Amino acid sequence: MWVSLSKWFIETGNQMFLAGVIIAFVIGVIIGSWKRAGREEKASSITSKGDSAFFKGVQYILSNDHDNAIEEFTKSVKVNSDTVETYVALGNLYRSKGDIDRAIRIRQSIILRPNIDKRIKLRALFDLGLDYRKGGFLNRALKTFLKVEQADSTSIRTLKEIEKIYEESKDWENAYRARQKISRLERGDDRHILAHHLVEAGKVYYEKSDLAKARSLFNSAISTHRECVDAYLHLGDLYFSKREYKKAVSIWKRVAEVAPQFTFLAYRRLEGSYSKMKDLRPVEDFLKECARSKSDAFTHMALSRYLYIDGDIEGALGEIARALELEPSFWKARKFKGEILLNHNREQEALVDYRELIDHLDVPYLEFQCFQCGYRADELLWQCPQCKRWDTIHMIESAGSRSTALPGSEEPLARFQNSKNEE
Ligand SMILES: [Zn+2]
Repeated sequence: MWVSLSKWFIETGNQMFLAGVIIAFVIGVIIGSWKRAGREEKASSITSKGDSAFFKGVQYILSNDHDNAIEEFTKSVKVNSDTVETYVALGNLYRSKGDIDRAIRIRQSIILRPNIDKRIKLRALFDLGLDYRKGGFLNRALKTFLKVEQADSTSIRTLKEIEKIYEESKDWENAYRARQKISRLERGDDRHILAHHLVEAGKVYYEKSDLAKARSLFNSAISTHRECVDAYLHLGDLYFSKREYKKAVSIWKRVAEVAPQFTFLAYRRLEGSYSKMKDLRPVEDFLKECARSKSDAFTHMALSRYLYIDGDIEGALGEIARALELEPSFWKARKFKGEILLNHNREQEALVDYRELIDHLDVPYLEFQCFQCGYRADELLWQCPQCKRWDTIHMIESAGSRSTALPGSEEPLARFQNSKNEE
C-alpha cells in the first residue's frame, strides 16, 4: 500500500494537486489566525470588503516574492486603513528586506493608534524590538523588550530576546536573571545554562581583580550544576593566580571526577603549575591515577610531559608510545617525541619515527561542531556563536582518523596559558 501511495506522490500531476491543497490550507490558516487576532479591530472587514490586494499580497508571500507582496499590502492598507494585520505583515516584510526604518515607522503607527487592543499593541512593541535588534540598535531593542516584559511577564519569547541581548553585551548577571524566569515559566532544567552565566560573570570579576566575588560566583556555578567544567577550570586558575597551587590542583582534579571526557582541559593547567610548585607529588599521583583509570592518549601525553620535566626521559618516551598506540595521528605527541629525540641527540630514532609519521600526515585537522545548528568551530566553545545555545559544541570525528581533533583542542588552553604566563 505504501509503495503505491509513494508512487502517487511522485507523479507530477499529483504533486501539483498536493501543492495546491497545501497552499490553500496555508492561506486559510494565515487568514484564520489574523482574523482571530484582530477581531476587535474588525479585521474580518478585509475579507468581507473583498480586498483583492490583500489576497494577492498573501500569494506573493507564499511564492517568496516580497517586493510584490509589499506593493499589494500597501494598496490594501489604502483601501482599509484600519486593518492592523496588514500593517504587521508589511512591517515584517520591510524588516526581512532590511528596510528597518520603514519597519519601525509602521510599528510606531500601530502603537500610537487610539483604542487599540492591548495584545495587538504588545505584539507591535515586540516586533519593534525585533526591528531595533535587526538594525543593530541593541540598547533600544532591550528597552523595548523590557517594556513588553513589564506588561506581560509571562512572555517567554520576550524573555529569550532579553536574555540574548544581555548575553551579547556580556551582562551575565542579568542574563542569569532572565534565564531564571524562563526556567520557571518553562519548568525546564536549565541548570547548565545558569551555571555558565555564573561562570561568565565570575570571569568578568576575575579580570577586574575582584577575586572574592569571582570565587563566590564560580562556587555558585558548581553548586548550580555539578558538571560545570568551566567553573572548575576557572576556580582552579583563581587559586593558581593566588599561588595556592595545591588548592588549584585539587580543584582541577575534580574535572576528572565529574566529567572525565574533559579531563584533558585540566592537564595543560597542571603543566603550567609544575615550575611553581615545590612538591610535585600531588600532580604525579593525579596523572598516574588518571592513566590507570582511563587509558586515553591525552592522559599518557600529560604523564609524558610530567615525566620529561621530572628528568625521566625513557619514562616520557614510553608514555608517548602508549599515547600513539591509542591515537596514531596525535600529532602533538609525535612532535613532542621528535623534540625529545633531537634534544638528546638520538637522530637515528628520530629518523625512524619520521618515516612512520609520513603515513599519518594526511589528516592533520581538528574539528568541533554544534549538534544543534551544525556550526563548525576550530576550538572548543561553551556557547555556540551561531545558535547561542550552551554546551552544544562537541568534538567530531573527521575523515581518516577518530581523533585528529584531539590535539588541536589543546590550542585554546595553550593560548590561555601563554597569556597567563605573560602577565
Ligand atoms: Zn549551534
